[in-house]
Amino acid sequence: MSETARLKLVIAIDGPAGAGKSTVAAHLARHFGFLNLETGAMYRALALKAIDHDLDLDEESEVLALCDTTNIALEPTRDGNRVLLDGIDVSRRVRDGDVTAAASRASVHPRVREWMVAQQRALGVGGGVVMEGRDIGTAVFPDAEVKIFLDAAPEVRGNRRYRQVASNVHEPVTVTETSVIEEMKARDERDRNRVQSPLKPAPDAVIVDSTGMSLDEVMARSEAIVQGYLDGKI
Ligand code: C5P
Repeated sequence: MSETARLKLVIAIDGPAGAGKSTVAAHLARHFGFLNLETGAMYRALALKAIDHDLDLDEESEVLALCDTTNIALEPTRDGNRVLLDGIDVSRRVRDGDVTAAASRASVHPRVREWMVAQQRALGVGGGVVMEGRDIGTAVFPDAEVKIFLDAAPEVRGNRRYRQVASNVHEPVTVTETSVIEEMKARDERDRNRVQSPLKPAPDAVIVDSTGMSLDEVMARSEAIVQGYLDGKI
């Protein structure tokens, strides 16, 4: 594969919360010299704006009305994406629990998803990206050259996420491992059962179940999948 073709690749990383997508996407982007785009952060940013405007997140028309006047930008950095909502850095705020729950609710609306998918296509159209989310390989870039669907048992995902939260020395721990697992299951349920582009592997995705794997092993496996594609083996 020529260098020019290589630089146009789209790598889609999908899967449920806590499966290791962000870690894997950041690693692949660094390793192969691509941009890493976290689409979940875009749903989070829109949901934050809906919270700030005191909107009903379950009302599609209310959330959709915001879209016309909303600008969401992702700036890839070494440590994940900087998220700009109408020019303001909301990278930390969008990770709060209330925004996480709101993003899950706002993202079920089909027309909100259509708007979001159009934004995401525009961001990735030039290629050279690792795009991470729930519907990248099925809806945003169904022609992505490499698709990886990362999965793991809910308890394993919840435990990983809890350890991540608990290891943050800057924030008091306000959740328990059980509450993290329950919250994750609720988000999964909504993602898997929504009408528009529900969470499921694309037929041509390589499924990586990381239940019994360390994150290092998951990164190595994912790197091998992309390298296999570049070497013409998949
Ligand atoms: O990936 P992250 O946890 O940041 O995503 C936040 C929420 O946005 C998810 O719970 C999911 O409901 C939604 N989402 C989505 N489609 C994407 C990315 C995220 O529906 N491509």
